[in-house]
Amino acid sequence: MIAAMADRIIYLDHNATTPCDPRVVEAMLPFMTESYANSTTRNHRPGRDAASELERARTTVDRLLGGRAASEVVFTAGATEGNNLALMGAAEALVDRGRHIISQRTEHASVLAPLTVLAKRGWEITLVGVDETGRIDLNELGRELRDDTALVSLMLANNETGTVQPLSEAAELARSRGALIHCDAAQAIGKIPVDVGKLNVDLLTASAHKFYGPKGVGALWIRHRRPPIRLEPVIYGGGQEGGLRSGTPNVPGAVGMARAMEITVSEGDGERTRVAVLRDRLESSILESLDGSWRNGDVGNRLPNTTNLSIADIDVNALLASLPDLALNTGSACTSAHPEPSPVLRAMGVSDELAGSSLRLSLGRFTSESDVDHASARIVEEVTRLRDMPKRMGRGSHRR
Ligand code: PMP
Repeated sequence: MIAAMADRIIYLDHNATTPCDPRVVEAMLPFMTESYANSTTRNHRPGRDAASELERARTTVDRLLGGRAASEVVFTAGATEGNNLALMGAAEALVDRGRHIISQRTEHASVLAPLTVLAKRGWEITLVGVDETGRIDLNELGRELRDDTALVSLMLANNETGTVQPLSEAAELARSRGALIHCDAAQAIGKIPVDVGKLNVDLLTASAHKFYGPKGVGALWIRHRRPPIRLEPVIYGGGQEGGLRSGTPNVPGAVGMARAMEITVSEGDGERTRVAVLRDRLESSILESLDGSWRNGDVGNRLPNTTNLSIADIDVNALLASLPDLALNTGSACTSAHPEPSPVLRAMGVSDELAGSSLRLSLGRFTSESDVDHASARIVEEVTRLRDMPKRMGRGSHRR
C-alpha cells in the first residue's frame, strides 16, 4: 500500500477552482480593511479613491484581454453571470435582427440553461454537434448560420476535457453572416493565451477564480467599437457598471482579478510548459498501468493542465471514495450534484458506461512532480483493488 503524504490532500481539481495566489490576496487586502468606501459614492474622497481603483482594475483587465478601452469591461460576479448577461442581454437587444441563436452541445450549464430559457421565450436555438475529440464541426456551423442568426456562443476551452475550440475560425464565419460572437473563456484564461482581437469575438466571459483570483468576481468584455455592442441588462437597480450590472461594485474583487490576470499573463508561458509536462506524466503513467483506460478529448488542441480519462469496469464514485487523499473530479464540478454520465462525453460519442466512469484531473500552479507521481500510483492502486473485489456487480465491456 502506498503511504499517504503526511495528511496532505493533493488537489487536482483546478478546473473547478484554483487557490487564490498569495500575491492576489495581498493586493486585495487594503481594499477590504482600509480603502473600503463604496466606489459609487462620489461625495467624499475615500469613495472617489475606490472609484479610481476600480477603473484602474478595469483598464488592466481590458488591456490584458487585448481590448482597447476600459469601458469594454463590465465586472460581474463570475462567469455564470457573465454568460447570462451576454446571452440574455444580447438576445433582448438584437430582436430586430432575429431570434435565432447558435451554440454547441458541450457548453457549460451557464450557457445552456439561459438558452433553454430563451427557447421558452420564443428564440430558436441550434446546438451544433462535436466530433469525438470534442471540437465543433465548422462546416455544420456554416450551414446553420442564417440571416436571422443574432448570436453565436461558443466556449474557448471545455471544463471537462480541456478541448480548445477553433474560435477565431468560428468567429470569422459568424461575422461573415452578420451574427455577433460570444465566447465563454472561463476555462481558457490563465491556461492558454486569450486575446479578444486575435479571437475576433464581440463578447467574452472571464472568471477570476479560475486563474488564482478570488471567487465571486468576473468580467464580461463587450466590444466597444466597430460595431459598438449594446446589451440589455439582466440585473436592474442603481445603474452601476454602465447600467449593465447594478449593485455596489466589488472593488477588492476587481483589484484581485486584475492582479491575478497580471500574474497569469507575465508567468503564463513558463507555467503552461511546466504543467503540461506534469499532466503528460500523470496521464501516461495511469494509461500505461491500467488496462481498459482511455483518454477523452483532443490531444492536439487541449488545455495544458487537463486530462480526462475513462476507466472501464469501475464505479467511479467508489473510486473517489477510496481516494480521500486526492481531490479529483468526475465530469464537471458544477453539475456533479446531478450524478448522470457526463453530457459532454456523451456528445463526443463516448458510451454511457465509459462516460459514467470518467475522471477529470486538472493540475495547477502549485502542483509538483511528487504530487502527480503519488496521485497516479494511488489511482492505479485503488482501481486495481476495486476491480479485484470478488463481489463487484455489473462488470461491463471495455468498448467505448
Ligand atoms: N463556464 C465554464 C466553461 C466553466 O468551467 C465555469 C465554471 N465551472 C463557468 C462558466 C462558471 O463560472 P463561475 O463559477 O465563475 O460562475
